[in-house]
This record gives sequence, structure tokens and C-alpha cells, in this order.
Amino acid sequence: MVSRVIPVESFDLVIFGGTGDLARRKILPGLFRRFCAGQMPEDARILGAARAELDDEGYREFVRDAIVEFDGERPKTCPKLAEFLATLGYVTTDARGEAGWPDLAARLREGRVRAFYFSVGPGLFGDIAERLHRHGMAPRDSRIVVEKPFGRDLETARQLNATLAEHFKEDQIYRIDHYLGKETVQNLMAVRFGNMLFEPLWNSQYVDHIQITVAETVGVGGRGGYYDKSGAMRDMVQNHLMQLLCLIAMEPPAKFDPDAVRDEKLKVIRALEPVEPHHIVRGQYDASEEEGSYRDHAENPTSKTESFMALKTHVSNWRWAGTPIYLRTGKRMKARTSEIAVVFKDTPHSIFGPEAGQHRNVLSIRLQPNEGITLGVTIKEPGPGGMRLVDVPLDMTFADALGPEAEEVPDAYERLIMDVIRGNQTLFMRGDEVEAAWAWTDPIIQGWEARGDVPKLYDSGSSGPEDALMLMHRDGRKWREIKA
Ligand code: NAP
Repeated sequence: MVSRVIPVESFDLVIFGGTGDLARRKILPGLFRRFCAGQMPEDARILGAARAELDDEGYREFVRDAIVEFDGERPKTCPKLAEFLATLGYVTTDARGEAGWPDLAARLREGRVRAFYFSVGPGLFGDIAERLHRHGMAPRDSRIVVEKPFGRDLETARQLNATLAEHFKEDQIYRIDHYLGKETVQNLMAVRFGNMLFEPLWNSQYVDHIQITVAETVGVGGRGGYYDKSGAMRDMVQNHLMQLLCLIAMEPPAKFDPDAVRDEKLKVIRALEPVEPHHIVRGQYDASEEEGSYRDHAENPTSKTESFMALKTHVSNWRWAGTPIYLRTGKRMKARTSEIAVVFKDTPHSIFGPEAGQHRNVLSIRLQPNEGITLGVTIKEPGPGGMRLVDVPLDMTFADALGPEAEEVPDAYERLIMDVIRGNQTLFMRGDEVEAAWAWTDPIIQGWEARGDVPKLYDSGSSGPEDALMLMHRDGRKWREIKA
């Protein structure tokens, strides 16, 4: 199967925070991969901007090192590193001062798509937006890309939206949630809306429950100070898990168009029920033999911030009333995995009798590792042992089904940056979506703060606190095993 790479238009991309961690690990190696794939045109220009004193040559060295560190195999298979580096430049720029801005403006070209990536803390968004405008660098068709966290509650998200809106229209603002750039997430939409098979079953009449798990094996590491002010609810649930929930639960949009898709997602968020306190479980990882506890890493011995979160919610509409949705995410878990599981109901009556066994169909959408979609189907166990039923997977792992090109699917950041250049906002969050997500999240956080709830300790390398298992067991259900 031959993959079709369609080059994007020529562009000028300015990366504010071009020397930061995100630029080094994701944005720049990702752009190099798109250059190797022939999608980024050779006359495109990427300008790094930060306060560090560097010139173009110094920045090229910096980017070369980043690519070798974070995607070291690529330069061995793609001989275009020198050509890619030639597209790069750098302007020493202070987001809060005046240094660098006239130089930056002078280096932008007319007649190219123009994009500004705000790979800096949200405290600088307003300063950068205002200066882009003042220096005449942001024509009506230019775009800005902003990173998470987009606020820490409804109030701050509103303020950020208002700040950006002073200088940019909504159709110029690309709020990144890199989960939406994952191949499987888009495949989820293809599976749902490109097949007749699933849609008739996609409702509370046939679906028992939905569970979404995003488990990480790493702890908070060097980000402890930042994370301690945030926690799993703000860092993961409000954005990533919420976006996955939306794509699973939304109605079919009339067309695959940015606003049609985002209108449907917004309706899901607005239909989410408030979460009862006894449907919320928060946890903190304990020390293991090799590593310290969450509180050690956060350097806060009395921290009440959660590194694990599980909750049960409902989407109150005709399609989903009565189908609970369970969300779970945590750090220092037993395996790194992200999975959405749609668990169908039992057959209404078993003609094979109790000894044959009963298995529920589960549609599992794995985001990592081994991106792919699996449908569990019940068949007869082979052999002469009578009618015993067994659950076997119908596996749609892309690498197997689509051949070697499928292994080369662009990573989320690459795809999303190319979408910015193409001017396609479908996989980016709209301002009202973000605000609606905070409007649902805020009372949950305010509730546990008012109650003074303390997260439960859980063992590093486990599936989270015991109470999270009970959240499901009480309903006669269980979490899917967390496995790599
Ligand atoms: P970082 O490593 O601290 O980098 C910050 C960048 O901003 C540096 O290039 C820094 O360079 C520049 N900067 C700081 N103050 C500046 C100023 N006044 N004027 C111009 N440039 C300035 O942060 P990061 O991890 O790359 O994160 C960037 C953004 O992405 C944050 O909003 C973060 O929450 C978000 N994010 C990061 C990740 C990740 O994996 N790292 C993932 C998701 C979201 P100078 O100090 O030289 O100016």
C-alpha cells in the first residue's frame, strides 16, 4: 500500500520558545520528519525565537543536536538533514521586551502561510499576541498555535480566550491537544462514521459502559513543582480524556468540517452530568524501592494533589442515558497504555447454558502502545470439548493491516502542525469547548477542596488505589487490565 504525502503550501513558521523542551523533543524533530517525507516544502522557513543569544548557525547546531537526541535514527535513513537545517533561522526575542521584534518582522516573507507557535508558558501569550499585532506581523490569514495548559479553571481560561481574542479571530487560533493528532483517534471517527456496522449499536441500548484509561509508568519527575499546582484532573482529564470522551460519545456531524465536528463535541461536554463525590477517586503514588513518593517528587510533604484520578460520569442525552462512562488516569502505574473500551451488553439470553460461558463484546481503541482497534468476538472454543465459548480479538492493528507505510504514520505533533499550515482546525479545540470543559471540571475540584479530601496512597507500579477498583465493583463491573 502506497502512502500519499501531499506537500503543504510554503510557509513561515515562528516558534516562540524555540529553545524550550517541547520544541526540542517534539516540534523540531517532527518538522524534520515531515521534511524527509516530502510534505514540508524546501522553501519553507522556520524561525526560532527566545531570549537566548544565538545566531542562525548556533540555532542550526542546537536543532541538529535535538534531532540526534530525540530521533537519532532518522538522519541515518534520511539524507536531508543539512537541507532541513538550511530552512532554519533564529532571532533573539524577548516576549516581554522590545528586543528582536523588528528583526523578526523583517525576516517574514509576503505571500506565504504565516504561523506562530506559542511554545511558551501561557503567561506570555498576551505579550506575544500584542507585539505580533503592533509590529504588523499578523495579517488576517496568519495563525497562532497555543499549548496546554489552557487555563487552570473556567475563569483563567476565559481570560486567556479574551486576551487572544483582542488580536486574533477564533479561526486563527489553534489550541493543541496532541491526543487529537493521534492516528487512532482519527481512525475512531472513520470506524464510527465510515461503517454501517457500529452506529446502530452505538447507544445505551447496546453499550453497557465505556471506560477510558490513560496510564503512565513515569512519575512527575523533574516537573513536580509545576504538577503539584495542577494534578491529574487538570493535567489530563479536563483536556485529553475529555476530548476522547467527546469523540466516542458525539453525534455524527453533518460533515467532516471543523465547526461541524466541534459543535457536536461541545454538545457532549454540555450534556455531562456533575460528578457525585462518591464517584470520584483520587490517589497519590507511594515510594517504591527505587524511587521516592509523589510527595518527595513534588517536594511538598503535605501535598493533597492527585497523581491518579478515576471517576464515573454520564452523558445525559437520548443516546447515552443509562450508560456510565468511567475515566481513569495516573502516573507510576503498572504499564504505559492509553485505551478506550466500549463494552457491549450481554446477549439477552444464552442458548448455550451457563457452562458454555458468556463473554461481552468489547471494542478496544488503543492509542498507545501498538495503536490499533480490536473487537472482541465470541466464538466456539475449537476442539471436541462441547460448546464452550471463547473471546477472540478481531484485530485491526494498522501496521499489520496496512503494510510498512502504516508504521510511518506521522506522530501527533507532526500531523497537527501540518494541519495548521493547511488551515484545518478540525483536530484543535475551540474556545467554547475549552470553557465548557472547565465549567464541568471546576465544581468537581472545588468540591474536594471544600471537603478537604486527601488522595489515597497507591503502590508505584500498581493499577491505582483500591477505591478505584471498588468504583467499578460496586456497579458489578471491572476495569480492563492495564497492560503494555
Ligand atoms: P521550557 O522548556 O521552559 O521552554 C520555554 C521556552 O520559552 C524557552 O525557549 C525559553 O527560552 C522561552 N522563553 C521564556 N521566557 C521568554 C521570554 N520572556 N521571551 C521569549 N522567550 C521566552 O518549556 P516547554 O516545556 O518547552 O513548554 C512550553 C509550553 O508548552 C508550556 O506552555 C508548556 O506547558 C507546554 N507543553 C509542554 C510540553 C512538554 O513536553 N515540554 C507538553 C505539553 C505542553 P529563553 O529562556 O531563552 O527565553
